[in-house]
Amino acid sequence: MSNTFVDRFNRPLHDLRVSVTDRCNFRCVYCMPKEVFNSDYKFLPRKELLTFEEIIRVVDAFAKMGVSKVRLTGGEPLLRNDLELLIEKIQQVQGISDISLTTNASLLTPKRAERLKSAGLKRVNISLDALDDETFMRVNDVGISVQTVLDGIHAASEAGFDAVKVNMVVKKGLNDHSILPMAEFFRGTGQILRFIEFMDVGNSNAWNLDHVTTTAEIADTINAKFPIEPVEANYKGEVAKRWRYTDGSGEIGIISSVSQPFCGDCSRARLSALGSVYTCLFASQGHDLRDLLRAGVSDDVLDARVREIWSGREDRYSETRSQVVTLKPKVEMSYIGG
Ligand code: SAM
Ligand code: SF4
Ligand code: SF4
Repeated sequence: MSNTFVDRFNRPLHDLRVSVTDRCNFRCVYCMPKEVFNSDYKFLPRKELLTFEEIIRVVDAFAKMGVSKVRLTGGEPLLRNDLELLIEKIQQVQGISDISLTTNASLLTPKRAERLKSAGLKRVNISLDALDDETFMRVNDVGISVQTVLDGIHAASEAGFDAVKVNMVVKKGLNDHSILPMAEFFRGTGQILRFIEFMDVGNSNAWNLDHVTTTAEIADTINAKFPIEPVEANYKGEVAKRWRYTDGSGEIGIISSVSQPFCGDCSRARLSALGSVYTCLFASQGHDLRDLLRAGVSDDVLDARVREIWSGREDRYSETRSQVVTLKPKVEMSYIGG
């Protein structure tokens, strides 16, 4: 393996998540609640966002440190014009072998899906939190129908990506009644459904442990109707725990960042739309690279800065969540992506 750089807990760096915009056309109640993200909210002016050229320089620096996977996220990444161009450029960076996208799929038309695929996008994760409009509209809070997202999932499947996964955040009292209908719907489709425990990201989503449906509860609910058994992880550091249906109709994943944290294997860095590197989803402070880039530093200086950031990393927020007493404001999820 090419990776020789590790952080203070000996964790290598494999994945980079790139947030291409802080804007979104949804107002999911657990991510960008309307009370905060309203007309008074100051989104980043366009010129503040990293350009594609700047993103590429950062991806290149991370690739030299062992990153081979890049995930594009946001905000809603499909709101960024010409995302396909960025994908083409990332594909040319030496060392990058996998480019994926996390999207709400509301803008994922068949044409767009084909263009993304031809540009080099390999895998797509689509967020969908319920199968009935009443619940889903209560989640997205902007009146987007379930069918709109199902059309996006269909478009992605037709485009022939290596994998299309569906992400469902489960918030108790909001959409936990949708666990079984979602499992039933996606069984046997080849699209892997992944349940995500509701997390205390950012400062706006009024998170409370009582609203977390745990991995054990999710697995028990499904197992009672459709028997499942655990499956080995595909690779060390895989975020989702895997289960398969015992009748052979596919598998599911559960991302248990609250009830069973996986910081020990966390090999992800995040680049915000503004050009700061965050070494944890729950960080309160990023490491700015944009000023360096705009000051015209050499690749060597940029590489050294990236190395310095990762080698100083000590984050393990989820493992220490219950001991954290005074909380500094955390970065919002829409800033750095999931
Ligand atoms: N807009 C895109 C989407 O929704 O897929 C990409 C960005 S979104 C921030 C990335 C992922 O984070 C989504 O799957 C979303 O459901 C998840 N997410 C957002 N807020 C969350 C929270 N509080 N807890 C758990 N997952 C969350
Ligand atoms: Fe937008 Fe995604 Fe956040 Fe929902 S989860 S508000 S779609 S960024
Ligand atoms: Fe990684 Fe931070 Fe999540 Fe732990 S809490 S798994 S260090 S992003």
